[in-house]
Amino acid sequence: MKRTWPLSDIPKPALPKKGEPGSFWEDRGDRRHCGVDLHAPEGSRAVACEDAVVIRVGTFTSPTVTSYWNTTLFVDLRLGDGLICRYAELGEVSVTIWEHVRRGHLVGGVGTVLIASEITEQSPGYVRTLKEHDTLSMLHFELWRSVPTADARYRGGNWFANDAPADLLDPTWYLQGIL
Ligand SMILES: [Zn+2]
Repeated sequence: MKRTWPLSDIPKPALPKKGEPGSFWEDRGDRRHCGVDLHAPEGSRAVACEDAVVIRVGTFTSPTVTSYWNTTLFVDLRLGDGLICRYAELGEVSVTIWEHVRRGHLVGGVGTVLIASEITEQSPGYVRTLKEHDTLSMLHFELWRSVPTADARYRGGNWFANDAPADLLDPTWYLQGIL
């Protein structure tokens, strides 16, 4: 099936390799990364990779949970084959629940997930590195076999344990397959 790169303003980059920052299941010390990070300036257009149905919209990160997190949003898209793509760390959302979207339809705008002034020596290493590189805005892209979990170990796109949720998939193959 023909797919569209999820950031319409930005050419497809080289995806992070296994273990690299922003890669799927990156070891972040006390947590593992549940998606792939696609860095982009705030407001960059995030679009549907393929025809889909919006099945959920909600808050993804909030400073009430972790001080260095901004408020960002997520959108879950159910694809034709039943897999679910989660578009996360959005600053704004342009779709509503149960909306049928076509490939290339605007889902929302990339948000700035991290608050630079709240990142300190005590913050996790990967967060300090993102601040140093001034890469605080991104599309956090996940792929699931079923509706993403509400498990308390799942927070801000990370999994606070080493055994992965059963239905979480590595989105690298999905993204890699888009030309
Ligand atoms: Zn991420």
